[in-house]
Amino acid sequence: MNLADINSIKKLLSSQGFSFKKSLGQNFLINGEVCPAMAEAACDDNTGVLEIGPGIGVLTEQLSKRAKKVVAIELDSRLEKLLKITLADCKNVEIIFGDAMKLDLKKIIEEHFGDCDRVSVCANLPYYITSPIVMMLLENKLPIDNITVMVQLEAAERLCAEVGTRDAGAVTAAVTYYAEKEILFDVGRESFLPSPNVDSAVIQLKIRKEPAVKVNDEKKFFRLVKACFAQRRKTLVNTVSNTMGVDKTALRTALSDIGLEETVRGEQLTMEQLAALSDRI
Ligand code: SAM
Repeated sequence: MNLADINSIKKLLSSQGFSFKKSLGQNFLINGEVCPAMAEAACDDNTGVLEIGPGIGVLTEQLSKRAKKVVAIELDSRLEKLLKITLADCKNVEIIFGDAMKLDLKKIIEEHFGDCDRVSVCANLPYYITSPIVMMLLENKLPIDNITVMVQLEAAERLCAEVGTRDAGAVTAAVTYYAEKEILFDVGRESFLPSPNVDSAVIQLKIRKEPAVKVNDEKKFFRLVKACFAQRRKTLVNTVSNTMGVDKTALRTALSDIGLEETVRGEQLTMEQLAALSDRI
């Protein structure tokens, strides 16, 4: 069965009385070129792949062909019967039904991928939790090599922006801290069933061995990053003093120490400047 073929999918779904749940971000891929390209970028035959949200298994099948093992986590248990049919021949795949945001992914990786050289996360992510999932994967410091995921185009641009430019947000700085990031290719809205009203892109985050910048206190660094982007039109001095309770004079001194004007806005700082400021306040 061609799992990316719209007619086969419609037939299969209706044979099981399946209806899409918008609340779970269920937009299934119907473009046969996307999944092979994602799988190719994410893994090789020594890789263990963690997939989030297999749907009917269109990406899972391609990952199964290229990876050593695939563990896919799906929240919607209505898909159990369907996945048994579609992935019947994929012997290196295990499906776990549960919420990817709540399961202990470190334990899952340890239990399933001990004999793999590396671990990747690959997914066509549900849009409603794209950033929380990406941040959860990074912040938990899971032993993964790369995250290769499809996200909404706007989210891709935000996640992969250059810190210090207008396109960046707090999430950009957080992603940059942990990973090297790249937009691999765009995917139009017509590639999904049902078709969403936004386009998508596949991004790859290659996890760094060491964070992009060295900071004395990681928690403080991330609080500063959040504060810097919280009220983008205000000066950094105003927004950081309000949200972190740092004295304005001390902030001005710290900014001057690192060669920045006191009128600078938080979104204008580079990673190095954010790190230097975090160590001084
Ligand atoms: N991989 C399939 C594809 O490309 O056609 C489906 C992708 S669809 C955009 C997102 C999938 O994630 C759906 O199957 C949905 O049920 C599942 N999902 C939504 N929230 C989830 C969560 N918290 N944990 C695991 N899976 C989730």
